[in-house]
Amino acid sequence: MGKFTPPTITTVREHIAWSYANLARADAALKDGANKYRVVHHMIRGKLFKGLKEQTMRISSLYRDERLKMTVPQACYYCGSYKNLSVDHLIPKIKGGADDSDNLIWACRPCNSSKRDKDMLSWMFNKKMFPSILLLRRFIKIVARYCDENELLDENLEVALKKSLPFDLAILPYNYPPLEKMRLWILPEFQESKESQAHNQF
Ligand SMILES: [Zn+2]
Repeated sequence: MGKFTPPTITTVREHIAWSYANLARADAALKDGANKYRVVHHMIRGKLFKGLKEQTMRISSLYRDERLKMTVPQACYYCGSYKNLSVDHLIPKIKGGADDSDNLIWACRPCNSSKRDKDMLSWMFNKKMFPSILLLRRFIKIVARYCDENELLDENLEVALKKSLPFDLAILPYNYPPLEKMRLWILPEFQESKESQAHNQF
């Protein structure tokens, strides 16, 4: 196999799609218990990126992420603490984050007060933390929905990055930490249910 060349990213849609497709690859590898990406995982990424770019596929609905809220023990989505929980906006309300449940997660008081008005990813990256896969999935979905509702998806990425948005679009990751450092959920024992895996959709 030749050396892999990452795709050229021009639009906001491609930017989000490439980040999301890389996340789907990590998710598939972790669920397979793999410690290295295999061909099948690269294929999942490639297929999803192409599908999202060409709009023959869609990012799965937030319904699954909402269901997760009811199936996992209530704990801080950032650090896993069970104590002093309150609701936190992934994308702060003051910056234009929605006040609906999709944007609301559990956070402990220390995390909540440290995060303040930063978006989830900016705050975690500042703290040298990397979100769990399922937390980042929810975040990217909310970013994608915002960009869709504000007709930004087909905009040139460089142009969009100069706009004032409620989140830092630039830092959506393409490169993820090594698999042994990634986790599906903040609480390590958690497994996403078999039926949602069976949908074969990320
Ligand atoms: Zn916390």
